[in-house]
Amino acid sequence: MAAATAPPSCPILPRMPRPFDPAPRALLTCRACPRLVRWREEIARRRRRAYADQAYWGRPVPGFGDPDASVLLVGLAPGAHGSNRTGRMFTGDASGDFLYPALHRLGLASGPRAVSRDDGLTLRHLFITAAARCAPPGNRPRPEELAACRRWLARDAAALPRLRVVLALGRVAHEAWLDLRRDEGAPLVKARFPFAHGAEHRPEATGPLLLDAYHVSFQNTNTGRLSAAMFDAVLVRARELAGLPRLPLTSSGLGP
Ligand code: SF4
Repeated sequence: MAAATAPPSCPILPRMPRPFDPAPRALLTCRACPRLVRWREEIARRRRRAYADQAYWGRPVPGFGDPDASVLLVGLAPGAHGSNRTGRMFTGDASGDFLYPALHRLGLASGPRAVSRDDGLTLRHLFITAAARCAPPGNRPRPEELAACRRWLARDAAALPRLRVVLALGRVAHEAWLDLRRDEGAPLVKARFPFAHGAEHRPEATGPLLLDAYHVSFQNTNTGRLSAAMFDAVLVRARELAGLPRLPLTSSGLGP
C-alpha cells in the first residue's frame, strides 16, 4: 500500500456545536439494538467475581479524548468487563493495558494506566471512539448493530474540526469508517481499500486519511500478532500523517 500524505484539512460536515458533549443523554439511554442492550445489562448484573463489589456501567460507552484531536482512534466495541464496567473506552482490561502505555510513550496520553473513568487520565491530539458502543456477545457486533451505531461514530467525527487521520484498530473499525463515509455520500469503492496492518488509505480526496492497525485485543497481543514495537510504529506514522511534532528517540524507545 503506497504511503499517503495528509491534506492540510479534512472537513467533515456538519460540524457539532462546541463545546462538544461526547456523552449526550440520547447516547447513554440508547436501546436501538435489543441483543446488545440485553447483553450489556446482563453482564452488568452478573459481574466477574474480581469486580463483584463494583457497580458496572452497563450502558453505551461514550467517546473520550481531546476535542482538538487530529487523530481519531476507532476501536471495535466495549469489552464486557473493561469499558462496559468502567464506562470509558479501553479502560480496565487487557486491551487498555496494552493501548495506554503505547499512547503515553507516543505523547498522546497523560499516563500509561487507565483504571477508571475518574482516574485523571487525559489524551492529547487524540480522540477515542468505537464502531459499536455496547458490549457485544463474543466481541462480535452484527452488521445491523454496527449500522445502527454509525450515528454515534459520525457524531464524534463531526465534532473534531482538526481531524486528519482515522486510526482503525482492526477490520471492523476499518469497515465502519468506510461505511460511514459512504453513508455520508463519499463516492468510494470499499474493495479498493482492503484492511492490512500498517496500510494507509486515502478513501476520498479531501477527507481524513485512514490508517490501519491490528486491534490491541489480548488475543492479538498475547500471541505476538501485534507487538508493542509494531503498534508504536503505527502511532509514529499517525503522528506524522497528522502533522504532529516528531518525538525524541530514547534508549527505551520513543520518549513521552
Ligand atoms: S450499539 Fe450503539 S446503536 Fe446499538 S444500542 Fe448501543 S449505543 Fe445504541
